Amino acid sequence: MPDLKARHTAVVKKTALELGFQCCGISKAEYLEEEAPRLADWLKKGYQGSMGYLENHFDKRLDPTKLVPGAKSVISFLYNYNTSQQLDPHSFKVAKYAFGDDYHKVIKDKLFEFLDILRTEIGDIKGRVFVDSGPVMERAWAEKSGLGWIGKHGLLITKEQGSFMFIAELILDIDLDADQPFAKDYCGTCNACVEACPTAAILPNKTLYASRCISYLTIELKEAIPDEFKNNMNGWIYGCDICQDVCPWNRFGKPNNEPKFQVNEKLPSFTKEDWREITEDIFQDLFKDSPITRAGFKGLKRNIDFVTESES
Ligand code: SF4
Ligand code: SF4
Repeated sequence: MPDLKARHTAVVKKTALELGFQCCGISKAEYLEEEAPRLADWLKKGYQGSMGYLENHFDKRLDPTKLVPGAKSVISFLYNYNTSQQLDPHSFKVAKYAFGDDYHKVIKDKLFEFLDILRTEIGDIKGRVFVDSGPVMERAWAEKSGLGWIGKHGLLITKEQGSFMFIAELILDIDLDADQPFAKDYCGTCNACVEACPTAAILPNKTLYASRCISYLTIELKEAIPDEFKNNMNGWIYGCDICQDVCPWNRFGKPNNEPKFQVNEKLPSFTKEDWREITEDIFQDLFKDSPITRAGFKGLKRNIDFVTESES
């Protein structure tokens, strides 16, 4: 009798590549023993700032069987969003992942298609899809599944493609062959991201002081940006790519070929003046499918005003 587990695993790997994922890795769905004390300590130190939702569902975050009853496997997927497209270098800055359409929707749609294919090829499967959307430790799962290592900046890095990759998870109730965890850390003596971070948000031991990170300040924070960051925003009005731009492993990255991640056609010519004069109607029209809606019109205006004030 053919090995059913091996056959199912082969279907998973083949389907992931066919749907355009750069790679996928598999782990057994079990409690993330090593992550538990690290997460508890990180939360206790308050590095999450006002992202109170990260304190919820502590056990679910570490135990996939609490998210999907009967879960047996966690599949981690990587999807490239690297790009050689650029915005006006004299204008304000926006993180690359927000150049095109919202990745949550684009990747979720792919994973639902993935699940449909598996159900046709394998049979009745129960599972849940997560794209930066639920209590899932996506970087830890990706490392455990052999896809790459977590760099000093706290992001997953692959040797082939660097770190400009979205991570998504699928938790399934079928047994699959698990991959070997990624055992090596290729950061070595490099400290480029730590030195380049303008807000000193990267702490030792791959710890991100999230509430000091420009991504948090410009997207997650709902109140005013604290004055202490006035001279440290470096022109970023939505997210920040500095620690990834300086990482030597991103020299190997290739531009993505996902049509939905190509830069919004109006963005490259947007000047600082255009950003300052943006109205709610223009915002809704320009960014209706973009992750920038997460900051909202008021949030984006607050960021533009704060950075403008810092530069004056
Ligand atoms: S995204 Fe920017 S602010 Fe955040 S850790 Fe990286 S360099 Fe620092
Ligand atoms: S910049 Fe250097 S230290 Fe930072 S993640 Fe990349 S390789 Fe590691």
